[in-house]
Amino acid sequence: MNSYDVAVIGSGPGGYVAAIRCAQLGMKTAIIEKYSTLGGTCLNVGCIPSKALLDSSHHYEDAIKHFEEHGIEIPGEVKVNLEQMISRKQGVVDQTTKGIEFLMSKNKIDVYQGIGSFKDKTKIDITKEDGSIETIEAVKSIIATGSKPSTLPFINIDKERVITSTEALKLKEIPKHLVIIGGGVIGLELGQVYRRLGAEVSVVEYMDRIIPTMDGGLSKELTRTLKKSGFKFYTSHKVKEVTRTGDEVIVKADDKKGNEVEFKGDYCLVCVGRRPYTDGLKPENAGVKLNERGQIEVNDHLQTSSENIYAIGDVIKGAMLAHKAEEEGTLVAEFMAGQKPHIDYNLIPGVVYTWPEVAAVGKTEEQLKEAGVNYKTGQFPMRALGRARASMDIDGFVKILADAETDEVLGVHMIGARVADLIAEAVTAMEFRASAEDISRMSHAHPTYAEAVKEAALAATDDRALHV
Ligand code: FAD
Ligand code: NAD
Repeated sequence: MNSYDVAVIGSGPGGYVAAIRCAQLGMKTAIIEKYSTLGGTCLNVGCIPSKALLDSSHHYEDAIKHFEEHGIEIPGEVKVNLEQMISRKQGVVDQTTKGIEFLMSKNKIDVYQGIGSFKDKTKIDITKEDGSIETIEAVKSIIATGSKPSTLPFINIDKERVITSTEALKLKEIPKHLVIIGGGVIGLELGQVYRRLGAEVSVVEYMDRIIPTMDGGLSKELTRTLKKSGFKFYTSHKVKEVTRTGDEVIVKADDKKGNEVEFKGDYCLVCVGRRPYTDGLKPENAGVKLNERGQIEVNDHLQTSSENIYAIGDVIKGAMLAHKAEEEGTLVAEFMAGQKPHIDYNLIPGVVYTWPEVAAVGKTEEQLKEAGVNYKTGQFPMRALGRARASMDIDGFVKILADAETDEVLGVHMIGARVADLIAEAVTAMEFRASAEDISRMSHAHPTYAEAVKEAALAATDDRALHV
């Protein structure tokens, strides 16, 4: 039986980063992955493929809507070749997952393909595709088994017409009318892909606004810009029935007043969140407890109820984000090695990769109000930037929330071109507990979208933005 210092179960961004960090710290490490490719949800059916399709569809939209104004004429009709678009996406995925194989071998991490199940606290059975079982021994283990799409109890996901994000990333045709249940991150990102390609897109959302967990200002501006592009939103609608007949899908919902509303489409994308995944893991054999939501219970060091077994990423509490899983992978490896790592969960940024992009870190206005914090606001519109006018990306703004007495930045909320990248400045500032004035006194290159951050900081400091 092969023996290890650490065995990691699951090779998503949580698992593979944990394995690399363990190996860097001198531990003999194994990683177990059920699928034939490494990288988990994020690389195979999540972050990377969705961004590849967002990029391709963005190019198409630019070609049909914006090229002419830029003085670029394309003789003949610009057409979508969906098969090629999906195949390019797959190429990006393949390249990226192969990259993880390389990193495993570079760090001398043994990779096992198969379903990992605890036999006891230190032994893991690995069931391979041919049914054979290999058992390995590990002093410590890290559970990084991630999540799967969740659904509503009355919906039958047939994976053909009633689909999850996984199927939406490899459709064979552009839907005529895509009905999306859930106006969260997946609904808006994948909705935008197919809206750009010509589908009618209706988003049915239970809450009274889309991206309901983000700052209300971001939700309002994103609603406005996506509506301009043809999205239809039905907020405060409670879906109660989804039926498929042949190629047609009918979604029935009750609106705020209790009236029944019917949506007829050819595809229905169900994206109402994801559930922690522990099928086949047999955590009970190792004394690992789950909570009532099916998440693996952990303490502040991400230790489970079984001392030498840790859990990270989507399978535990907290935001289901790749970079959160990565930070936790690093934390666990360093804690095992006797270090004292720390994660400030308040400073894990959240991003929606629509265009305009949406990005945020820290507290929302709603949270600050609820907590009774005395705060001030500085907001700067993208349209006031020369850089934004040059690229015709004038939608959006940067909003900085700072403590009214101390000027410490408490939250930064952005919507606009490239804000997914700009949010890193806000995270850095907040990690160093910067004040709004600190940001406002830093030189920002001109012309850049980042100037909006400085201007919002000036607005928050003393209501003295320069360019509005
Ligand atoms: P996962 O990535 O889910 O990996 C878990 C792995 O464990 C899987 O490979 C699974 O096969 C394996 N596994 C499970 N059980 C076993 C077992 N018993 N034995 C062996 N292997 C097992 N997040 C972002 O931060 N940015 C984004 O842009 C983004 N886009 C997304 C887009 C979509 C469409 C989706 C669905 C998700 C997106 N996410 C994004 C979320 C992100 O993918 C997850 O937060 C992230 O993958 C979680 O990482 P993880 O390591 O915890 O688990
Ligand atoms: P989500 O939590 O972002 O959104 C789900 C939405 O569905 C919410 O707005 C919720 O109010 C709504 N909803 C719930 N029940 C409903 C009902 N009965 N009827 C109508 N609407 C209902 O979840 P998601 O979009 O499925 O994404 C899953 C996870 O994947 C998220 O946690 C997200 O963090 C992650 N993800 C992240 C990114 C990114 O970081 N850019 C991209 C995609 C996915």
